[in-house]
Parts: sequence; structure tokens; C-alpha cells
Amino acid sequence: MLKPTDSCLQLSPPGAHRAVVALGSNLGRRIVYLHTALVALDKIAVGTMQCSAVYETTPVGYLDQGKFLNMVVCLHTYLQVRVLLSYLQQVESDCGRRRIIQNGPRTLDLDILLYDNEYVCYGDLQVPHPRMVERGFVLVPLAELLPEIRLLGGKTVAQLAKTWDTVEEIRYVGRFW
Ligand code: ATP
Ligand code: CA
Ligand code: CA
Repeated sequence: MLKPTDSCLQLSPPGAHRAVVALGSNLGRRIVYLHTALVALDKIAVGTMQCSAVYETTPVGYLDQGKFLNMVVCLHTYLQVRVLLSYLQQVESDCGRRRIIQNGPRTLDLDILLYDNEYVCYGDLQVPHPRMVERGFVLVPLAELLPEIRLLGGKTVAQLAKTWDTVEEIRYVGRFW
């Protein structure tokens, strides 16, 4: 089911879409929330998902909160992008996510980073995720899965991730899935 060896570069099965999702947790049993999210994602995945390693990262923006566990998952799914967003929000909610402080602590955060090669721009949904290019906690795990794709600005994920390679704010924890 959750094999890290499957390539997310492979073509999606007919009618399916490649979705890349960022996972984050800095409240409660962080690794359990990540696992809960993976089980939920596996339910909507066609074939195997590909999971990055888990990283522990220092919060950005709102600093007075605990460190995050972050990872990135690539899957193929039949869900349309807006349905996928609703599904992810339901999973967050099931994990007790409350939006009290913007960028504040959360049991689980699930962001859609990429959806095929589409540009999506609704009031409540932008894909590619507009802030992903500036976030080491997204770029470093994403570089494990899709190093060669080019993001806004023309640089590859690998090039962007390189500047974060040695910073202590992003600490490799391990590969669990
Ligand atoms: P950030 O988006 O900067 O990482 P956040 O994840 O803390 O911040 P949330 O409170 O989880 O922000 O979500 C705020 C809103 O962002 C959601 O209600 C959702 O509609 C919207 N949103 C827009 N684009 C996306 C996306 N690509 N993935 C997930 N949510 C998105
Ligand atoms: Ca987020
Ligand atoms: Ca979010």
C-alpha cells in the first residue's frame, strides 16, 4: 500500500490525476496524525503512493509554537481538485484541526502543492501552492520525489531545495513509509 519505491513520474491511469500533497503537524502526537493522513490518502489513491521521509522543522511566520513534522506525498487519484481539497479539509477536521491563529499550531495541515500540470486559481484554492517555492519544509521533502520539475520562476525543485540542504531548521528524522 504505502510503498516509497513507486515513481510519481509515471503517467496517471486513464481518468486519474497526479496530486502532490504536503503534510504538517506540530500539535499532539504528530507522527500519529501524519499516519492518519496517509491512511486517508491511501483510500483515494489509485495504485501506490510515494512518500518522502519525515523532517522536523522550525516554524516560520508565527514562531511561538512547537516544531513541525513535515513530509510530502505523491499519489494518483480520480478526485477532481476541488473535491480533493474538501476531502483533505475533512481529514484535517477529523484530526481535531482548529483554525484559531493564522499560521498557528495545528494537529494536521494538508496542502495541495501540485495537481497534474494545472494552474488552478479560485478564491479558496490556488495550485500550485503559491508559497511552496519559498518553503524549505516543502521543497526538501518534495525534492526526494520530484527533483526535476520546474516551479514558478523556472528553477527545478532540486535547485530550490539545495539552498535549504544544510540549514538546521530542517532536520531529517527518518523514512517511515
Ligand atoms: P498556507 O496556505 O500559507 O500554508 P495554512 O496551510 O496555515 O497556510 P489554512 O488555514 O490551512 O492555511 O488554509 C487556509 C485556506 O487556504 C483554506 O481554507 C483553503 O481554502 C485555502 N487554500 C488555497 N489554496 C490551497 C491549497 N493549494 N491547498 C490547501 N488549501 C488551500
Ligand atoms: Ca500550509
Ligand atoms: Ca493548509
